[in-house]
Amino acid sequence: MQTIKVGISACLLGDEVRFDGGHKRSAFCTDELGRHVEFVKLCPEVGIGMPVPRPTIRLESREHGVRAIVPKTGEDVTERLTDFADRAKGHLTQISGYVLCAKSPSCGMERVKLYNPENGHARKEGTGIFAAQLQQRYPALPLEEDGRLNDPALRENFVMRVFVYAAWQGLSQSPSKADLLGFHTSLKLLLLAHNQQVYRELGRQVAQQQEMTAEFLKSYIEQVMQALAEPATRANHTNVLQHIQGYFKSVLSDDQRAELTDAILAYRQGIEPLLVPLTLLRHYLREFPNDYLAGQRYLNPYPKDLKLRYGL
Ligand code: SF4
Repeated sequence: MQTIKVGISACLLGDEVRFDGGHKRSAFCTDELGRHVEFVKLCPEVGIGMPVPRPTIRLESREHGVRAIVPKTGEDVTERLTDFADRAKGHLTQISGYVLCAKSPSCGMERVKLYNPENGHARKEGTGIFAAQLQQRYPALPLEEDGRLNDPALRENFVMRVFVYAAWQGLSQSPSKADLLGFHTSLKLLLLAHNQQVYRELGRQVAQQQEMTAEFLKSYIEQVMQALAEPATRANHTNVLQHIQGYFKSVLSDDQRAELTDAILAYRQGIEPLLVPLTLLRHYLREFPNDYLAGQRYLNPYPKDLKLRYGL
């Protein structure tokens, strides 16, 4: 089985590498996600040779862009943090996602304090230097912050994307058109739950494209990952559930059909979680096997014991 590697800010695994000698251990990462993935931990600030403890860094908006400055000494460590992303390339090309430590001027993904050096005022509109490098260099790579992982929907979305991206990385280096069609088909219901338009548009692109060029494949997976990062609405999930229900129309009894319809409606109305109709559908899939449905990632996007759909 493919080992899924996920990058992570080292302090989130409990490493005492923060500026103050502390850590920011994430229980979800260490106790739950860590049972299914192999973490690749990096601390960009220690990686550029800074000690623990160390003076703080802050982001400053300067004439030539955003810089990472050590206020105590005035040192500019922007280039060193950027170079660190270069040096870590060997690790970064192997990972299927990255969990970043929020608010950090190196690792923060968004809303990091960005100072105006003239007046010392800060606005929460910066991105950490290392995190920005990840976004630029690996646009399809799923990224998320530790704090946002406490939100059930964002947590589920991130883990789902990691497993989809890992499946993509597991395809042959130069996939054939049949490989790509198979991958795209397996994502059909998942993409429909997130963005129906993108699913159809990508289907058209895949059908028309004769040669699987590196450029086309890069554009394809970037569009897929971008669409999957959009929240799946209750209405879209309902459409997908009804679509799956259609496959069992002729084999279920009247009572079973009514029970399934009620479960989908209860989910649609917010009375039951997504897991209720999904569990019923999975049960019927075991009873009445269907190859097409069995191949849909929507029904089994990640290991069940992560219990990520309980809160949806
Ligand atoms: S946030 Fe990033 S740079 Fe700061 S201690 Fe954690 S891993 Fe190191």
